[in-house]
Amino acid sequence: MRDLARDLSLLSINTATLKTLTLRQAVETLSRHGIRTIAPWRDRLAECGVKDAARLLADHGMAVSGLIRAGMFTSGDAARDDNRRAVDEAAAINARCLVLVAGGLAPQSRDLAAARGIVRDGMGALLPYARQAGIALAIEPLHPMYAADRACINTMAQANDLCDSLGTGLGIAIDVYHTWWDPDLKAQIARAGGKILAYHVNDWLVPTTDLLLDRGMMGDGVIDIRRIRAWVEDAGYAGPCEVEIFSAANWWKRDPDEVVRICIERFQSCC
Ligand code: ZN
Repeated sequence: MRDLARDLSLLSINTATLKTLTLRQAVETLSRHGIRTIAPWRDRLAECGVKDAARLLADHGMAVSGLIRAGMFTSGDAARDDNRRAVDEAAAINARCLVLVAGGLAPQSRDLAAARGIVRDGMGALLPYARQAGIALAIEPLHPMYAADRACINTMAQANDLCDSLGTGLGIAIDVYHTWWDPDLKAQIARAGGKILAYHVNDWLVPTTDLLLDRGMMGDGVIDIRRIRAWVEDAGYAGPCEVEIFSAANWWKRDPDEVVRICIERFQSCC
């Protein structure tokens, strides 16, 4: 396994972790701490303007481990144009991948199988555009508690099946929060192999008090992050560990410099 304690270049911070900062503030904060990789959400990019964001990132020598997010294939026709815009944005900032969250049930529907079909077709339709732009799409399976409203792709096996059926240009973003419980995780990570495009870290708190906004800092919960990283690296993944923490009651309320300092400590000691 790679030695994280020696190499901050393997650490990326997702802007969701620094919720209160603009993109410029996030980039400047990370730069102060010697971190050179970031994963912006599209709302932060939009605030800044994509051209200015690209310049800002380049001026600070910031690599982009992923742009988050596109997808939402079950939400109707508007998703199609928005997803193409997201591909263009990912290309403009030279992102390693564009992360896709599938979308949940279609409006007024109880048909989960149909939703999964819509997702497959939507990804298939977006792929040629992304291939042409040179942007890899990374499907991120989300924990099944989000199947209704956010993502009907919930396991690594489903994500692998999509990659197998849709071909080149589609890979997987693995988030420990969404996948740690899966009894088939080790085998499915091995199966994914070179298709792993991103690796998100955080922790599962016990108890979790909010299904969306109560993720933990690495080391504060029950996920064996180091073990999962070993599987991911054994599968051939050589990219960064990206810290993505939604935490309305805790981390979002703290001083961002303190948050980044603790991210570094925990990255080195718990990941
Ligand atoms: Zn994630």
